[in-house]
Amino acid sequence: MINLVVGAGISGAVIANLIATKLGEKVLIIDKRSHIGGNCFDYRDDNGIMIQKYGSHIFHTSDKKVWDYVNHFSKFNNYEHKVLAKFEDKITTVPFNINSLYDVFDNKKAKILEKKLMDLFEPETKISILEFQKQNDNDLKELAEFIYDKIFLNYTQKQWGRSLCDLDSLVASRVPVFISKDNRYFQDKYQGIPENGYSKLIENMLENENIQIQLNTDFKSIKHCNYKRIFYSGSIDEFFIYKYGYLPYRSLSFELKKYNKEFYQNNSVVNYTCEEDYTRIHEYKYYLNDKSPSTIIAKEYPCEFIDGQNERFYPIPDEKNIYLYGKYIKEAELINNVYFLGRLGKYKYFNIDMAILDALNLFESRILKEKK
Ligand code: UDP
Repeated sequence: MINLVVGAGISGAVIANLIATKLGEKVLIIDKRSHIGGNCFDYRDDNGIMIQKYGSHIFHTSDKKVWDYVNHFSKFNNYEHKVLAKFEDKITTVPFNINSLYDVFDNKKAKILEKKLMDLFEPETKISILEFQKQNDNDLKELAEFIYDKIFLNYTQKQWGRSLCDLDSLVASRVPVFISKDNRYFQDKYQGIPENGYSKLIENMLENENIQIQLNTDFKSIKHCNYKRIFYSGSIDEFFIYKYGYLPYRSLSFELKKYNKEFYQNNSVVNYTCEEDYTRIHEYKYYLNDKSPSTIIAKEYPCEFIDGQNERFYPIPDEKNIYLYGKYIKEAELINNVYFLGRLGKYKYFNIDMAILDALNLFESRILKEKK
């Protein structure tokens, strides 16, 4: 009897790899798209630039187990992500940090604010903007309002179609106010981009005689009987034919444009936090340091996910949706040998490393134990 893995993104690839290599069992992995990699999928275009079809994916983790695992399948370069935010006539770093004070205010005001922040917080503290707004000092209250208005308010409205306080606090805490002069987006110990891209990394995970890949194949078209186990990394509501209703998602569309000059902007990602209707511009050649006289950028436009029209990108973690997801989880507990994983299976805002860890844990804490 063979195992079925639904979805050839990072979560599906990890579990397929573990079943095939550690248990020596056969795996059929299917994906309804025409490529492996899920939303991590990338490809080199005619200009020799590695394009991340579904937007920038930056690998970062503090978990040595995850880092060691991914390094079996690819080398990683030493890219460390930085993000700039543009609003009005200003440009600064996100997360907003001590250096940002000097980017957006005159020197005198920046110095006063820096001193107040350093008196109040330990160095290297990260504070969610929602917490940071609870200030007593008038200058810091004003600063919090400024950061909220210029960095979070419109960006979040564009990204989610709702405001930060209507979302799980986890969303706001991803991009804190940072009491630091460290301009990096992530402070994790291990960071980088796979040297030959994410598609190649995932291809290497699936490179095993026990694994058969079948693309352009919908789960609905597959005979469900006779699988030893099913690992489902699609959306859990779809598995149960939406019996309690649809789990909503945000989707994205990307407008790609080529420019016949070496660089379009001076950073891989620039967020447009106020005026424009797109949220950010990605310039892909930065990630692998691709050399080309031209460059490719992608403008990112968030939108609602509509089944059959676009892809799922972000679960929307609000109270109502988390409750709905709970109903599906209860349903899932009633069936044997079907395991839900990944951003869509778990309806969680996983980063790549979290998705990998989730699949590694599923294998170690459930599959191996059930096998004994
Ligand atoms: N965010 C924001 N302004 C920014 C960057 C982030 O308001 O310049 C908020 C926004 O709500 C966003 C969330 O922080 O959805 C998380 O941002 P992150 O960069 O982690 O999102 P991802 O890269 O996963 O799309």
